[in-house]
Amino acid sequence: MNVVTRFPPSPTGFMHIGNAKTALYNWLFAKHHGGKFLVRIEDTDRKRYSEEAVTAILKGLEWLELDYDGEVISQFSNQERHREIAKQLVANGKAYYCYCSKEELKEMREKAISEGHNTFYDRRWRDRDPSKAPEGIKPVIRIKAPLDGSTTIKDHVQGNITINNKTLDDFIILRSDGTPTYMLSVVVDDFDMGVTHIIRGDDHINNAFRQKIIFDAMQWPVPEFVHCSLIHGSDGGKFSKRHGATSVEEYKEMGYLPEAMRNYLLRLGWSHGNDEIISTDKAIEWFNLEGIGKSASRFDFKKLENLNSHYIKIKDSKELLELVRPFYNKRHNIELSKIAEERILANSEELQSRAKTLLQFCDESVFYAKSSPITYDEKANKLLDEKGKESLKALLNAFTSLTDFTAENIQNACKDIANNLHEGKLGKVAMPLRAAITGTTVSPSVFHASEILGFEETSARIQAAIEHNKIV
Ligand code: GLU
Repeated sequence: MNVVTRFPPSPTGFMHIGNAKTALYNWLFAKHHGGKFLVRIEDTDRKRYSEEAVTAILKGLEWLELDYDGEVISQFSNQERHREIAKQLVANGKAYYCYCSKEELKEMREKAISEGHNTFYDRRWRDRDPSKAPEGIKPVIRIKAPLDGSTTIKDHVQGNITINNKTLDDFIILRSDGTPTYMLSVVVDDFDMGVTHIIRGDDHINNAFRQKIIFDAMQWPVPEFVHCSLIHGSDGGKFSKRHGATSVEEYKEMGYLPEAMRNYLLRLGWSHGNDEIISTDKAIEWFNLEGIGKSASRFDFKKLENLNSHYIKIKDSKELLELVRPFYNKRHNIELSKIAEERILANSEELQSRAKTLLQFCDESVFYAKSSPITYDEKANKLLDEKGKESLKALLNAFTSLTDFTAENIQNACKDIANNLHEGKLGKVAMPLRAAITGTTVSPSVFHASEILGFEETSARIQAAIEHNKIV
């Protein structure tokens, strides 16, 4: 099957996760069929247009690793072609010039409201001779919508949806200033781009009926429609800021991996049996329109986090370090030295199995990038009291007599001290040690961490902790 899909965002300043889901489905469907995935920026609203808004969308796609075919298409730059088609539709008797004045339209609108109609234009210029056109009014072009009967959209997700044609009006396709309307531009671009499948949010279903009128009027094939449910928040409302981060950029900054995001967004509206973890390769192999669910799904942060944990765990440790690198700088103002990198890589397996996000990986490993004396957070500070320091002094002593500074020997030394000083409670020794070497109370195994830091650095940090004046 020849498949061409498209992702046509309006540049709103950021990439909403709903858009990301739409982009993903279009991308997967194209990849599955060996087809094309095209990107078109719907930039005809010049008042709201900005270069940065377009960049934000393209960056979102880049982060999600959704590559597209060819150049990014600008809808605005196709305006001349859209105008031509509007005029062609008039020439073919499928559309007409309408010379209504503002006052006339206002009157019609008020009448429709008072009579309870949802369309208001009374089609007065549909069959009127254009030679009767009044002076000084720049006309719009309106499409001739069907007057009776019904229209059915065959949707791959929603099934057949039929509406009474009475609810369709002769809507404007070219404004009086010569600018095409959104409805016309979308159809012309979709045709020119050879789009075979329109996969988008179900908030566009109403547009589909109007767009079909234009496709039919031009005798162009109507693409297949695939209207997917929107993402909802935990309370069932449309997903918005009050439910959590809405932009793809924010998820990147919170330390999510693009593969986790893709897996999550895929599962949010599509299923393959009971599979939860679906690699991108499998997603491409399996993706189909039948698997798209009809009902809206609620965004579940816990699920996203679980998937992120999974993808962090299985990531190559060097690749992962490259992804975490910017966070050390942003969060802790630290550039990783060679030695810090080596230490982190030596402990990466454990750090990866603990981390739910790249932020967590960063925060739990940043102590490797520090050198003595380090700073202590509030909880660590509390552990460095007289009792803690007593354990640390004993540890410092014990460490000097270790022949091999290995995790096992370090742990045994801690156990001996716990037996001697704290009735066998290992935590009474391990916790102050953790505070001393990491400056925190949350870290990977403190015995491994000590081994990785090495005897000298560990001893220096313990010494500094002993000398540290606890601020009470
Ligand atoms: N520009 C529209 C949006 O961002 C998409 C229109 C379409 O998919 O046809 O919602």
